[in-house]
Amino acid sequence: MADIFDHKKRSEIMSSVRSKDNKSTELKLIQVFDEYGIKGWRRHYNVKGHPDFVFLKERIAIFVDGCFWHGHDCRNTRPSDNAEYWATKLERNKKHDKEITDLFEKRGWSVIRIWECELKKKNQDVLLRKLTRLLYQNGTAI
Ligand SMILES: [Zn+2]
Repeated sequence: MADIFDHKKRSEIMSSVRSKDNKSTELKLIQVFDEYGIKGWRRHYNVKGHPDFVFLKERIAIFVDGCFWHGHDCRNTRPSDNAEYWATKLERNKKHDKEITDLFEKRGWSVIRIWECELKKKNQDVLLRKLTRLLYQNGTAI
């Protein structure tokens, strides 16, 4: 079955979904930082690649990736309509993510990529494992 929206309209809808999602996932991560006493982060630091958070001293860039936009296979996040269009688009996003990760690693930074679904309470052990370095540096027992 064809998508009821044309590509332009669909892109507009998805863009609004994206910006809303991103804001709430970032806020959830800030709550986790607060909860575990992780300090020293900066949000939306203006550097090429635009990480969601950076820890300048530790040289860590954190990206919070929406499961849909960044092609996480955690759930059925792929639209069945226009499957080919979306597959191409999401592949491009994934390739872009990898390029950005490489860019930071070449500069001697560490990159932590957090999936939106890992911010859910039940998946938080995965999240905390990813943040271990920060937890340790902040002297929090885990
Ligand atoms: Zn996910």
